[in-house]
Amino acid sequence: MDIAALKRDLDGIRIEDNDKIVQQKSRDFYWYSPVLKRQLDHVTGDLVVSPKNEAEVIHILSACFRHGVPVTPRGTGTGNYGQAMPLSGGVVLSLAEMNQVTAISPGRVVTGPGAILADIDRATRAHSGQELRIHPSTYNTASVGGFIAGGSGGVGSINFGGLRDFGNVLRLRVVTMEAEPRALELTGEDLHKVTHAYGTNGIITEVEMPLTAAYDWVDVIVGFESFMGAARYGNALACQDGILTKLVTPLAAPAPQLYFKRHQKFFGEGQSIVAVMVAPHALDAFLAFTRREGGAVVYNAAMASDDDRKGLPPAYELAWNHTTLRALRVDPSITYLQSLYPFPDQLALVEKMDGMFPGEVFSHLEFVRFDGNITCFGLPLVKFTTEERLDEIIRIFEENGCPIFNPHRYTLEEGGMKQTDDIQLAFKREADPQGLLNPGKMIAWENPDYDYRSGKTFLFKGLQQVG
Ligand SMILES: Cc1cc2nc3c(=O)[nH]c(=O)nc-3n(C[C@H](O)[C@H](O)[C@H](O)COP(=O)(O)OP(=O)(O)OC[C@H]3O[C@@H](n4cnc5c(N)ncnc54)[C@H](O)[C@@H]3O)c2cc1C
Repeated sequence: MDIAALKRDLDGIRIEDNDKIVQQKSRDFYWYSPVLKRQLDHVTGDLVVSPKNEAEVIHILSACFRHGVPVTPRGTGTGNYGQAMPLSGGVVLSLAEMNQVTAISPGRVVTGPGAILADIDRATRAHSGQELRIHPSTYNTASVGGFIAGGSGGVGSINFGGLRDFGNVLRLRVVTMEAEPRALELTGEDLHKVTHAYGTNGIITEVEMPLTAAYDWVDVIVGFESFMGAARYGNALACQDGILTKLVTPLAAPAPQLYFKRHQKFFGEGQSIVAVMVAPHALDAFLAFTRREGGAVVYNAAMASDDDRKGLPPAYELAWNHTTLRALRVDPSITYLQSLYPFPDQLALVEKMDGMFPGEVFSHLEFVRFDGNITCFGLPLVKFTTEERLDEIIRIFEENGCPIFNPHRYTLEEGGMKQTDDIQLAFKREADPQGLLNPGKMIAWENPDYDYRSGKTFLFKGLQQVG
């Protein structure tokens, strides 16, 4: 890898080669996982390159192709599976400066890949009272390109499903990694080539996302004496077609009391909770429904005093992966899993799994609407002891019919469906023939014969070693 020659070819483009800064920009939230922390702690790129527009992206990719230098794209580095970490070194391509919101119209927004999700909503709200359909709980920090390439769903999935569902991304412009990089426009079925592909087969340079009506969502927290009371209420609320919510998050005691430091005073001892975002016009109906279901409203932002509201994070920063972040801040031995409780048996499965690991696993659910059906994901908090025990818990979940999307693996396949995504692989052959984009993240490319049922963890042979 001739980095000096590459640098000469990138004259005029913003480059950072200070070791400390490069290392910092080579990291994401991989340390969430004790397993990834052990495997990836030493990983660093050689150079951070920050294009300002698509023409610069094309110039950079062409130069890297010529010099055989790997390129790992980066939004803002909030991914938590090491997605944005350059396992073979080379260039970290920061898209953060390509953050313009370029067009807003009814139901659509066009932006650069580096636009921060909350900034997009600020622009679309001011323009025409619209907002993005779905955002991760890292709303205030994550880029839209990083969300599309590295995320899967979040706040709003209760109405709109996952990011890879048809219609949740409208159009992407993607630049290929070839001697003469091409800029392709992808729509419809073709979007599946690059959504949630970790940037392994193209660089997203422009996105067009669907919008929905914006509301001043009201944060409410409802308390229950038992976790299953909270889970059943969450399921029933999510099924109320007339009550517009954006988030329905049940969490088992004692996690809220232990980890939600700023909200602690609202919770009774042993109370499990459901954190909800509800549209202002739906609030009366929501409160009537909650009363009927026997829930105790312990916090309602619409009624709270200024004193009570002061310093409180928004409800979505108690949810999705922020639940784990808050737990980790209080207890560094906490880690987590990601499971699905398939429809229509979600509540029975939740009850079964909730009772299985007392004191070791705390249930945390996120209700979603998938293919028209309400069901839930789990992001259970786990008291970490050993990697062997973590694997055992994963096995037990899967044996009981709850698939695990393993957040302790850096490859697409092991973190996902444990099989080759033929569409993404075929597009990589076309768009990145030398395998220079984000190496090591797509097993199907690195080792086509890999046996996903082997029970072993894939180890990327090119993972840069320390020193
Ligand atoms: C506290 C916390 C909460 C989270 N909550 C959620 C959640 O609710 N839902 C969810 O889905 N995820 C969640 N995540 C994961 C992460 O925040 C999201 O995936 C986020 O949207 C990533 O955006 P980013 O800009 O930080 O991307 P990065 O981490 O920088 O990148 C993510 C992936 O996309 C690739 N990439 C980035 N930009 C481009 C581009 N322009 N072209 C091609 N590839 C690119 C990177 O190489 C990497 O593989 C959470 C993470 C944390 C730490």
